[in-house]
Amino acid sequence: RMMDDHLMNDFEAETELSLRPLYLNQYIGQPKLKNNLEIFIQAAKLREEALDHVLLYGPPGLGKTTLANIIANEMDVNIRTTSGPSIERPGDLAAILSSLNAGDVLFIDEIHRLSRVVEEILYPAMEDFCLDIVVGKGEEARSIRIDLPPFTLVGATTRAGSLSAPLRDRFGVHLRLDYYDEENLKEIITRTAAVFDTEIDDESAGEIASRSRGTPRIANRLLRRVRDFAQVKGSEMIHIETTKQSLDMLQVDKHGLDHIDHKIMTAIIERYNGGPVGLDTIAVSIGEERVTVEDVYEPFLIQKGFLERTTRGRAATPFAYEHFNYPYRNEKRK
Ligand code: ADP
Repeated sequence: RMMDDHLMNDFEAETELSLRPLYLNQYIGQPKLKNNLEIFIQAAKLREEALDHVLLYGPPGLGKTTLANIIANEMDVNIRTTSGPSIERPGDLAAILSSLNAGDVLFIDEIHRLSRVVEEILYPAMEDFCLDIVVGKGEEARSIRIDLPPFTLVGATTRAGSLSAPLRDRFGVHLRLDYYDEENLKEIITRTAAVFDTEIDDESAGEIASRSRGTPRIANRLLRRVRDFAQVKGSEMIHIETTKQSLDMLQVDKHGLDHIDHKIMTAIIERYNGGPVGLDTIAVSIGEERVTVEDVYEPFLIQKGFLERTTRGRAATPFAYEHFNYPYRNEKRK
């Protein structure tokens, strides 16, 4: 939750449910991922087997939870949803696993946050569909094996690298979600507007798309805000003037950077002479959690060419100096 709180509140989380596409053919973008997944699903269905375990990774808001639900729908099985930090003891996980039906999907969000002891329950469950449970105490203690129905574990994480190697290796399918391009985001915005029964002109959808930092969740949220503005103004339809005004009021710039991106970049440029500077130092100096900076902000700033990752830390690029209106001195990087 911690990271997602930066992106949505409870009310938004609730309406988000109704926005989720239910089947693969409604899922917009990510063409390579969709093609692969479609083949794996078809093959598993032909063999009448559970789908192999799937690891989904990529920044928050790109559609991992949505995909987990789509997998269950496409396989025509039930889904059980939980998250790494909410499974506290091995017994909690054992209880969930033994309640699954054959073929079911178990979705564990933030799977990199499972504790080591809980993770160890998963290894035999994933590999051999069984639980090794210790019963009794002291000299009486012995281990018994309980068979589980075959199931599909879908794990989601913001970074595949933060998963332990033994866990990562037990996923047969690894799928990486990329930031969405503006065309796909436009399509998502248009689809969401239709769900909201709101009319939006093409230019507005494009404008919101270009400021959504490649992320469907942000695109949907900006659309909701712009729709609020239009409604208060009494417009039947979302027009480009309203869109631009409301996005400016929301302090989202033309690259989709928000005030935290601004804080990060100006801190690096002003206080650390453009870097390189360590991630922890950046996080402390702007008063954010390290994981938030690392998982939510940094990947986008790097992808857009504002930030560079060097062996000695993070550094602002000449492009960042230009965008944030600071003079760039070539000699400073020598
Ligand atoms: P994650 O689990 O990666 O944080 P979610 O699955 O919760 O992301 O997606 C965030 C929001 O974006 C959801 O409301 C979902 O409807 C929307 N969304 C994500 N990916 C797509 C997509 N490919 N097509 C349409 N809507 C999407």
